[in-house]
Amino acid sequence: MPRPILATIHTAALRHNLQCVRTAAPTVRVLAVVKADGYGHGIERVFDGLRDADGFAVLDLCEAERLRALGWRGPVLLLEGVFQPSDLAICSRLHLWHTVHDDAQIDMLTAQTATSASPHSVFLKMNSGMNRLGFAPGAYRQAFSRLRALAQVARVSLMTHFGDADRRTGIDQPLALFAATCRDLPGDWSVCNSAAILCHPDAVTVPTPASASASNWVRPGICLYGSSPDYPSHTAADWGLQPAMSLSSKIIATQDLPVGAAVGYGQTFRAAVPMRIGVVACGYADGYPRACPSGTPVLVDGQRTQVVGRVSMDMITVDLTGLPTAGTGSAVTLWGRAACGAVLDIDEVACAGGTLGYELMCALPPRVPVQVTSR
Ligand SMILES: *Cc1c(COP(=O)(O)O)cnc(C)c1O
Repeated sequence: MPRPILATIHTAALRHNLQCVRTAAPTVRVLAVVKADGYGHGIERVFDGLRDADGFAVLDLCEAERLRALGWRGPVLLLEGVFQPSDLAICSRLHLWHTVHDDAQIDMLTAQTATSASPHSVFLKMNSGMNRLGFAPGAYRQAFSRLRALAQVARVSLMTHFGDADRRTGIDQPLALFAATCRDLPGDWSVCNSAAILCHPDAVTVPTPASASASNWVRPGICLYGSSPDYPSHTAADWGLQPAMSLSSKIIATQDLPVGAAVGYGQTFRAAVPMRIGVVACGYADGYPRACPSGTPVLVDGQRTQVVGRVSMDMITVDLTGLPTAGTGSAVTLWGRAACGAVLDIDEVACAGGTLGYELMCALPPRVPVQVTSR
């Protein structure tokens, strides 16, 4: 029997979550963000569930090539654009859209000879206050003009990214700045991540583009995978999202603890009453955060209980005292959906470990086998 640790990717949940985005933003085009190998789920594994998107957004050329290898012929946007001149020829050959966030990228395009196979579609990024990538508002319009003057650039779209879209007023200022800077510039535009789509649905319709036929391309990532972009203000269930990844394992041993007995490395947990402990075949080398303290929720046979003691490399220990029917062989859900349908939010586990659902998904290690289910 293989070690019972297993990650399950739920195609139906991906499809459902994409539909949630469509419902929240019915008039827009959706670029499903599948960077970081589909937020740790695997691009090939999420493709079927997300293929109704209008396009995909990725970080590097390898990911873009994998989408093309899957037969995807629609839009693919490179979120950080190109890194060196030779990337441009690949963009041209594979018809990739690419972000332009600085002058060096415009210089590369300018130096590109007219032999370029097909002209480029670029998304010109404005820095609206996050101070990561993008042109300052005062330099944005000149960058736009430079790009429009190039024969090798067929289309310039307008783009920015919010640093605080999960807060109620977090996008007011950057959105106003973006709208004022772009005012009469023609072109499609793209501003919304998951948090902006769900928390600020009105942002979806502003700013008004100069051209009535322009499209608004939203860029949802985390919500497609069933994690709430503004947890704990809203849970995934509050947004109607379903977990796209479940991490499951089994109890492989039990221990009866007398009062005062300790469990795990460092003896950080001691039984105050007689307890029964289950040992789960899942540790930090399986992607379960070592920072999750005693008390972190876990499902055993679909019932909620908690971690006790430290997470070790290959095992965690959980409290079975209140679960008399649980024992060796019982199913454990670390996050996601249990066989009975009970759900443990990845955000709740992440929060207990001082991090975000994003990090847990993306950190799924190669030693964990993955299965895809249509459910
Ligand atoms: C990662 C990313 C997104 C998606 O963000 P989520 O919070 O996962 O929805 C959107 N736009 C850009 C530029 C990104 O880098």
